[in-house]
Amino acid sequence: IQCVGILTSGGDAPGMNAAIRAITRAAVYKGLKVKGIYRGYKGLVTGEIKEFKSEDVSNIIQMGGTILKTARCKEFKTEEGRKQAYENIQKEGIDALIVIGGDGSLSGARIFAQEYNLPCIGLPGTIDNDLFGTDITIGYDTALNTILDAVDKIRDTASSHERLFFVEVMGRDAGFLALNGAIAAGAEAAIIPEFSTKDDQLEALISRGFRKSKTSSIVLVAESELTGGAMHLAERVKNEYPQYDVRVTILGHLQRGGSPSANDRILASRLGVAAIDALMEGYHNVMIGIENDEVVYVPFRKAIKNDKPIKEELVQVLAELSI
Ligand code: ADP
Repeated sequence: IQCVGILTSGGDAPGMNAAIRAITRAAVYKGLKVKGIYRGYKGLVTGEIKEFKSEDVSNIIQMGGTILKTARCKEFKTEEGRKQAYENIQKEGIDALIVIGGDGSLSGARIFAQEYNLPCIGLPGTIDNDLFGTDITIGYDTALNTILDAVDKIRDTASSHERLFFVEVMGRDAGFLALNGAIAAGAEAAIIPEFSTKDDQLEALISRGFRKSKTSSIVLVAESELTGGAMHLAERVKNEYPQYDVRVTILGHLQRGGSPSANDRILASRLGVAAIDALMEGYHNVMIGIENDEVVYVPFRKAIKNDKPIKEELVQVLAELSI
């Protein structure tokens, strides 16, 4: 391998820049050429590609977002689009691709790698932490901290008795942000997609009752079709439990922003260096992850479309501490 292409795709996450920097520097250190591909798979299809030197990634480790930009690209989901992408790969002399993104982006990499026999490596870049085979994903820690800041502020204003605050956090089909955010913020409960098919979590919450000494209750809700989201739950409270005064805050995209935390920068740096090592060692079609503080190579087929389980222990911690 002589030339590595890098792209960031799908939802952006704080720490993606630290990963771009690490991949670029590690590649240059090992004598490889690097090409930055802009706007995710879109730039691969349209040929928006630029050579990256070490200095092109100076001063970005502390920046949120991604200097390579990100996008969603419908064309890449078609054979014709991927053919065009491969033509650009050949034209640019790229012989391996590193994709930083979530489940969808890595699914794209997997298909592309199979179709064209191109070595592809994935880095887990998503605030949702929903990739199997890695304990954490790039951006998750920063997003958690952003949620804490917000919930701490909401708590300051939440003072009247039996007022119920629903704070909606991101997570699509994963409750990691809601559950760990609730533990860290000292919230009453988390309503997460993983349990939505088993229980009516709202009914369980209300029937458990709230501690009388509490002036208000804060509940984190994962934004998901399965939970219905905070607005939907608030409507239900208004109709079914009118004795509660309910309020909703949707944190939205502010969770994606901000300077990455120390943990995210270190994670992104380790994964970026490991991605180049993996390529040099001849590994293809794996996602680089961290398990028990060790770098691991997870085959795409395992990492993608595979639900990462919520730890029961965390559910219990939240339950015991909210009495
Ligand atoms: P994320 O990576 O954050 O999960 P998306 O699911 O939106 O984000 O995926 C990002 C991009 O990855 C899509 O816009 C598309 O270009 C590509 N992609 C996703 N799934 C596939 C697929 N099955 N085949 C080819 N490309 C895909």
